[in-house]
Order: sequence, then structure tokens, then C-alpha cells
Amino acid sequence: MSSKKNLVYFVGAGPGDPELITVKGKRLLDEADVVIYTGSLVPKALVSSLQATVHNSAGLNLDEVFSIIKSSWEKGLNVVRLHTGDPSIYGAINEQIALFREHGIPFKVVPGVSSATASAAALETELTLPEVSQTVIFTRRGGRTPVPEKESLASLASHRATMMIFLSVGMIDDVVQDLVAGGYPEDTPAAVVEKASWPDERQIRGTLANIASLIKEAGITKTAMISVGDVLAQSAPPALSKLYDSEFTHGYRQGSGQS
Ligand code: SAH
Repeated sequence: MSSKKNLVYFVGAGPGDPELITVKGKRLLDEADVVIYTGSLVPKALVSSLQATVHNSAGLNLDEVFSIIKSSWEKGLNVVRLHTGDPSIYGAINEQIALFREHGIPFKVVPGVSSATASAAALETELTLPEVSQTVIFTRRGGRTPVPEKESLASLASHRATMMIFLSVGMIDDVVQDLVAGGYPEDTPAAVVEKASWPDERQIRGTLANIASLIKEAGITKTAMISVGDVLAQSAPPALSKLYDSEFTHGYRQGSGQS
């Protein structure tokens, strides 16, 4: 244990555009003495002109990352661990947090814009449309990292909710097969956004029937988000939201209808 007051910050770097970091995250980076970032998906522009000593964790294992953090923290330095997107989603922060707790190192997590919401923005899509889907599932297909059987893509697909599928574009044929086997009709809209918010972002729209071949034609193999669901249909919604309904009264507005 130490009486040190400095905290270690996990910071979400956002999906790629260096302006999509929070104001707080940017301030912490500017004030940091040591920054450890997670390799190629963190925009270089965020780490290239800092006064801090900067480490790329791509070639480091957990012990090596932790030992840089611990020794820096013990010297009273400000440390930022910069994660792509939002740190809570496939960010592997839990294993670091376990070590921090074990060693009494105080820390805080600063959220970031996930590639899931950045992809929705790129697609100009509301993921939660009234009477279409009010649920978004963030998931991945099992590969080298297994997924619990109860969360297989096929079983999640049975809800026919909106799905944002990470880390799986390299297995697009299997993804589509699972989704259709699980219950999505083949004409369900699907889209893939590669490198959402980067200057070379690409997006492909189709349906479950053709998205796999479109993706292969385009040569998209990684850093891409697969989105599936009827919310992607580019048409007027079947129902308007209650929030802006003129008949609907809520905490901030008196509607003209009965409340
Ligand atoms: N914590 C990150 C996800 C890390 S897992 C987040 O919140 O975004 C890495 C996966 O995220 C990639 O395989 C890809 O599926 C997705 N991803 C990361 N950056 C992306 C981007 N700019 N555009 C589309 N998908 C992206």
C-alpha cells in the first residue's frame, strides 16, 4: 500500500477520429507523464504530440504492461492506459483492474465512443426504433476466444433485435449462417462499417442474403462492425417515438392528450 494520491486512468480513445475522445480523456492525456496505448486501433494523432512517455502495448504481455504502470505510479507519475473505443467492450480491462486491486493502486475508468455507436452514426441509423427493436445486442462470434454456448449467435438471433457484432468480419460466412439458422429472415438488412470514423472508412449495405459476398468482394477482413436488424431499413419508421409525440405528456412537457 502506498499513500500516493495519483490515480491510474483507463481512458477510452474512441473509434478512430482523434476528435471522438471525451474532453476529460483528452485533458488526462495532456496531463499524463506515461501513456500506454493499445496498438494500431488507437489513432496516432492522439499520442504523437504528448509530453508523456508513450508505450505501445501491442508487443507487451499483461505483466509487462502492469509493471510499467506500477513503477510509474509508485514514482507519483500520472499514468493513462488508453484503450480503443470504449474500454468496457472487449477491452481486457478486468484483468488489469484485478492487479490494481491486488496491489492497492487506485484507478478510474473514463468511457469512450465505442466503434458500435460510431458505426451507427456512420450508417445514420437509430439502433432502437419503436415497434421495430428496443434492444441492442453487442456480441461477437466465438473464434479463438470462445463464447458461452448460451450466447451463441444463433440463440441471440432468435430475438431478432438489433445486433452489433464485433471481431467477426473474418468469419462472415459463419456469422450469416448462424444468424439465419437462429431466426433472422434472409432479407433482414445488414451492414458492415470498416474503420468507422477513420478517413478511409468504408460501409457496405445489403441483406443477410448477400452481405457476405459483398464484404468479400470489397476485401474487408478486419476492423469492421457487422450490424444486423430491421432498424437498418432506410425507410420512415412504422411508429413515432413517444418522446416527441404531441399527445404524450412526460416530465418536461405537457402533451395535448390525456395523461
Ligand atoms: N473497445 C472497442 C472494441 C475493441 S474489439 C470499442 O468499443 O469499439 C476490436 C473490434 O472492434 C474490431 O474487431 C471491430 O469489430 C471493432 N472496431 C474497432 N474499431 C472499429 C472501427 N473504427 N470501425 C468498425 N469497427 C471497429
